[in-house]
Amino acid sequence: MGKIIWVDLGSGRIQEEEINETVYRECLAGTGMAARILLDRIPPKADPLGPDNIICFVSGLLTGTGSLFTGRWMVAAKSPLTGTWGDANCGGNFSPAIKRCGYDGIFFKGISPHPVYLCINDGKAELRDANGIWGKDTKETEAILKKDSGCRMPRIACIGQAGENISLISGIANDGGRMAARSGLGAVMGSKKLKAVVLDGTKRIRSHDITEVKRLSQKCNENIQFMPPFPPSFVLAYMGAILRALPAQPSTETLMFNTVYKLMLQKWGTASLNQILIEIGDSPIKNWKGSNEDFGQEHSEKMNPDVFSDCVIVKYHCYACPLGCGGICHRPGVSGETHKPEYETVLALGGLCLNDDADSIFRMNEILNRAGMDSISAGGTVAFAIECFEKGILTLADTDGLELTWGNSAAIESLVDRMIHRHGIGDLLADGVRVASRRIGQGSSKYAIHAGGQELAMHDGRYDPGFALHNSVEATPGRHTIGSQMYYELFQLWEKVPDLPEPGLIYMKRSKYVPDREKAVAAAACSTYMNVINGAGACLYGALMGTKDFPLFAWLNAATGWQLSPRDYLEIGAHIQSLKQQFNIKQGIKPTDIKVTNRALGRPPLTAGANRGRSVAIEKMVQDYWDILGWDPKTGTPLSGGKMDQEI
Ligand code: SF4
Repeated sequence: MGKIIWVDLGSGRIQEEEINETVYRECLAGTGMAARILLDRIPPKADPLGPDNIICFVSGLLTGTGSLFTGRWMVAAKSPLTGTWGDANCGGNFSPAIKRCGYDGIFFKGISPHPVYLCINDGKAELRDANGIWGKDTKETEAILKKDSGCRMPRIACIGQAGENISLISGIANDGGRMAARSGLGAVMGSKKLKAVVLDGTKRIRSHDITEVKRLSQKCNENIQFMPPFPPSFVLAYMGAILRALPAQPSTETLMFNTVYKLMLQKWGTASLNQILIEIGDSPIKNWKGSNEDFGQEHSEKMNPDVFSDCVIVKYHCYACPLGCGGICHRPGVSGETHKPEYETVLALGGLCLNDDADSIFRMNEILNRAGMDSISAGGTVAFAIECFEKGILTLADTDGLELTWGNSAAIESLVDRMIHRHGIGDLLADGVRVASRRIGQGSSKYAIHAGGQELAMHDGRYDPGFALHNSVEATPGRHTIGSQMYYELFQLWEKVPDLPEPGLIYMKRSKYVPDREKAVAAAACSTYMNVINGAGACLYGALMGTKDFPLFAWLNAATGWQLSPRDYLEIGAHIQSLKQQFNIKQGIKPTDIKVTNRALGRPPLTAGANRGRSVAIEKMVQDYWDILGWDPKTGTPLSGGKMDQEI
């Protein structure tokens, strides 16, 4: 759109800023453009909850151009949870609304003296009083603003009570409780007294060659609509058990997993992964100290994908998405309509706490979405508290009488509610495991599983060391949506950039744990590719169909008129990676100080289950990764402007 808008919450001043073409050429839009601007304009060592922090809502370069899977919006700021670069990402319909208002991003600085919301309606931007909606949850806020804002068809992003209470694990919601959950950015909105952003615009979003964009989209859609019969969901658990037992691993290409994954997502959404990932060892169990043996099929079948899709009353598609992995559910025992819980939520509040009560997970999913709290971090924090209780570090006197035992779903639900409202023990835990372990002391930090302060998502680096690496090296530590060895296989980037390594059709599992240059190149390619995806506003799940079926580079060229090669785009991605790393260094973060808790690296290794005996040689993997990006391998400092080296 060529423009962003700035809102100074301290002075109330609102002004537009033109964005030079070179910014798009060098950083695309989305989090790429955000990285450029926030690196330049947030002063060193800024307080993430102070007036100098800037929070921005950005749309992707491809959003609204006719390309598919490109309706993601992103929010970025300095994270109060990690002190690093922070961003979060969400689907729904908010992203095109940013562009229809005429902007690629909406940037906020300063702190308002009282609660406000921004309304951009028909080209007019104004801050409005939000005292009447402060204290409301995200669904109530949306409903009130839809009625009272005077907009015809507003799209709304807002915080709930968690963000207002400056919980460091709070996120930002849109479309009735869909969450941009990670990095604690709801607390940044709360600290600025910014309750909501309400958008209603009619600007046209242009595409350089709309015919070509549509041709590419039609081809992509034909593949999506191919829906052969698929086995019943219980087969997935047995498939996982068989894969676990094999000493060798077939690559995702051998298993045709790109197609299988698409079918699973289409049929069940991310809940399709619930059982299979427990069986193969990708889902952490019992605060990362257990295994599939502690949460066997008699428990996990209660989390069977059908449990979550049978109660879907309407399927949910993000803007411009032909797949539609989401759903609105109505489940007896859970009041009202609710979003279908995602895999991450189910496992964080399920297997991680040994909780097999699906009803309780539906209820917690709903109250967390309403309050605007990150369900991954909430589940990780509950599991930490249960282990502290087990070890006698927390007692009934500390927990307000809650019996915090493994699998006690009533106590878990009650604890989540207390965290949302900062009641009693909930106040101690409402800022995540790192802060809680510092408050509790008594050696509890070894049970606090995180990377650089952010609770880890439900993907185990002891199963796929690529997850451990990206948890350690990304500018926002603890991210599961950037890369892994499995993601690299699914992306199939070597189809477009032929000198990238192509994995063998089958390989010994033990080879996954041996750091080498090829794995470092693959990991750097994942990071750089995801920066292009986030610059474009695309969905990771579309990208996991593989580059043959997801024509991201061709869409970008057709929509912009640029004639860049896939390698050129990866170099842009590498430049963005460098900007985010420079952001951290400017903010006083040493990349070598970002650590993953030992337990999650297999130190010591588990003695039972799918991941027994496995540990991750993280130090060597991190150094190799930095080296491939052309950064100092000892310090992680970008040296060459972020250009990938000759190997890529
Ligand atoms: S695949 Fe799912 S998350 Fe991705 S754009 Fe489609 S509906 Fe949204």
